[in-house]
Amino acid sequence: MEYVATIGMEVHAQILTQTKMFCGCPNELTSAAPNTHTCPVCLGMPGVLPVINRVAVEATVLTGMALNCTIPSFSKFDRKNYHYPDLPKGYQISQYDLPLCTSGHLDVTVEGDARRIGIRRVHLEEDTARLVHQGGVSLVDFNRSGVPLMEIVTEADLHSAEDAYAYLSKLRQILRYLGVSTGNMEDGAMRCEANISVRPEGAEVLGTKVEVKNLNSFRSVRMAIAYEIERQIAVLEQGGRVQQVTMGWDETNHRTLFQRSKEGAEDYRYFPEPDLPPIEVDEEWRAGIRCRLPELPDEKEERFTQSYGIREADAALLTQDLQVANYFEAACAACEGPTSPQTVANWVLGDLYRLLGASGSDIQACPVRPEGLASLLALVESGKINGTTAKDVLNEMFASGRSAEEIVKNKGLAQISDEDTLTEIVLSVLDQNPGPAQQYREGKLQVLGFLVGQVMRQTRGQANAQAVAEIIKTELARQS
Ligand SMILES: [Zn+2]
Repeated sequence: MEYVATIGMEVHAQILTQTKMFCGCPNELTSAAPNTHTCPVCLGMPGVLPVINRVAVEATVLTGMALNCTIPSFSKFDRKNYHYPDLPKGYQISQYDLPLCTSGHLDVTVEGDARRIGIRRVHLEEDTARLVHQGGVSLVDFNRSGVPLMEIVTEADLHSAEDAYAYLSKLRQILRYLGVSTGNMEDGAMRCEANISVRPEGAEVLGTKVEVKNLNSFRSVRMAIAYEIERQIAVLEQGGRVQQVTMGWDETNHRTLFQRSKEGAEDYRYFPEPDLPPIEVDEEWRAGIRCRLPELPDEKEERFTQSYGIREADAALLTQDLQVANYFEAACAACEGPTSPQTVANWVLGDLYRLLGASGSDIQACPVRPEGLASLLALVESGKINGTTAKDVLNEMFASGRSAEEIVKNKGLAQISDEDTLTEIVLSVLDQNPGPAQQYREGKLQVLGFLVGQVMRQTRGQANAQAVAEIIKTELARQS
């Protein structure tokens, strides 16, 4: 029997703000010693009052706009009641029935097919503290307690691990374009859960859904969903019933494990947060936020193909990361003369990516600035150096941070185009290779490449290869 999988995704993203969601503590998790960014509010002391962080509200609304959501004019916070060591208040301030953003969508491409994923809601809440389990004890770090967190929930519009992967990649790309979150899954700034069910093809009623948590990398999202789909199919095939539970992804053994029976919304006893006023997003505020929407990945990709005339696949690669896109545009702008945007794209996606990959640094820390790349390409374009030398010069620029002109001058790398010099080298090469020279004269024209190669070797790659080929042809014609 064939089965259809139905998947909904819930993504939590920490919002980049100066301060936490409801207090003035710094929202800074990477370098702070544990429990140094805390106050009575985020420690959940009795009698304190939260204050809404406006920047976090605007970041959530901005995200909703980028995801084509409706922004209702009235929204509110609610208490989600549960007890856990990372939640000292005994409740989390979240949003239940009136989220900041509703009913949007995100378009993705999965293996060449365009897909529209419905966005049910985007709401704002506070993060919990972080538990660290080590050496048989559990420690708690309250620096994360009260950090603003947005939750982005899809409709059940996904059907495979590949769908989920494409959705997450696109979502993270947008969060980064907006500058509202780092989207880094490895440090927990973006966390993901999937609700997965399976039903026989043609069946109208959805199967029982299982929630899978602990998905903390793109790889584990893919593996966990594929695993869980197979597991549920196996249960149904054996005549069993899938239980509605919460599972965790076991990263070590690559399987989902039972965590607990699934709690329903009623278990949380949601009620409106009495310590906070509702949020009214009026037309003026909405318009002000909408003004801050940047060019989004799809639009940028389209513009790169249209106005720079580069290949579509290259435009897609360049716009994957906003910093790379900015680098490309800055390099194009710095190019004087005839260097084409496609040439710039080739160098960025080729040699520059290779160097960045090998050094493990990202493009913002790249020692070769866009202007530096442009001046290197100008040297190639003007014939001062050839393409082979340019690759070496780029390596040197990357390693030393020095300019292309300086390296070419100091190392004497300028291309040899002088005809007398080249003719002299060509003659000696023909002398040393009488066999191939004779073959060429007899009409075996492909040995030309070999002879040019010999000249390039003698000049350590600095000869102007085109000029060399012409001289060889002239000399061989003269000698015969
Ligand atoms: Zn605080």
